[in-house]
Amino acid sequence: MKIYLREDLVDLKPYDAEEIPYAYKMDANESPWDLPLEVRQVLAQDLIEGGQLNRYPDSNSTRLRQSIGKYLGVSSKQVVVGAGSDELIQILTTAFVDKGDRVIYPTPSFGMYRIFTQIAGGVPVEVALEQDYEYDLDSFRLALTKHNPKLVFICSPNNPTGNMVEHEKLKDFICEFPGIVVVDEAYGEFTRETMIGWIDQLPNLVVLRTFSKAFGLAGLRIGYCLCNKELANQINRVKPPYNINSFSQKAAILTLENMDIVRERIDEILKQRELMYSALKGIDGIKVYPSQANFLLVQVPDGNSVWQGLYDRGILVRNFSNSPYLQNCLRVTVADEKANQSFIKAMKEILQKEEG
Ligand code: PMP
Repeated sequence: MKIYLREDLVDLKPYDAEEIPYAYKMDANESPWDLPLEVRQVLAQDLIEGGQLNRYPDSNSTRLRQSIGKYLGVSSKQVVVGAGSDELIQILTTAFVDKGDRVIYPTPSFGMYRIFTQIAGGVPVEVALEQDYEYDLDSFRLALTKHNPKLVFICSPNNPTGNMVEHEKLKDFICEFPGIVVVDEAYGEFTRETMIGWIDQLPNLVVLRTFSKAFGLAGLRIGYCLCNKELANQINRVKPPYNINSFSQKAAILTLENMDIVRERIDEILKQRELMYSALKGIDGIKVYPSQANFLLVQVPDGNSVWQGLYDRGILVRNFSNSPYLQNCLRVTVADEKANQSFIKAMKEILQKEEG
């Protein structure tokens, strides 16, 4: 068939999220728990009584933005909501990147920075992380001088490596740079640190967050960004109308009203993460990286065969073995106790067999 796609997009590979059967799903950094029962009950009752789904949703998610503002101590005018933070990455690249503009982001990191940069017609520039995937902002400074980018993405905690950038240093970096810096805090709820406190002082800072991870609403597709009011107005010009459906808006508002449950769940994930980290450290042949998020990156002698061994036992993890910066690395999402223990048991069996 004739190719109708823009010529510069012909080689673009779509984001690969394969559906594979599993017993334990530990490959996409989701929450292991569905919406709190309290939230489901209200939503179900609402649907039965008539959820007005014949009407368009609130185009600007006003009540949801107010709830997010209250949760984080910012004005609702500083919040822009997207259908997942994925959509916001697309909105931000559409808003700020012109044809040929450079966009800088770390590697290895989240794959959508490159894809949405290319879709916007921009030129992706990757800055390699250092030894053990540490951020060195001086490498980013060199890239700024060389490429003069419009937009910089910093992912902290970084997916898939789990480490963070130092916030004091990042603040200085953002002050020096005239373009926009997006700090992707998709995993921000699993740490105590955030850049949100700087959005009033730093007019070029955008903090990106999501309901998909700690809040467990991945299937409902809600993300948001936080920045100063004027910048939010600029971003809003590009946001599609009605981008969050009314059911998702309600579910997110209700989940924010049940923060005690969300916090308990976060605490449980943090506890489980430390147990998994120690258990993995005790297995010969594995290098496990410390993580500030709800996943762990492990390096094994042969990533593809360990991935297969896990898969054969019904455990799905993300295989990065063939990526240039992540050779023989697997990323495992911290799930509930049963799944985590099955994962550890499987890792012991697989690695002992490989050794023997
Ligand atoms: N940013 C990072 C760093 C992520 O890991 C992800 C999801 N894997 C996203 C953004 C997108 O998440 P969502 O679209 O579900 O909000």
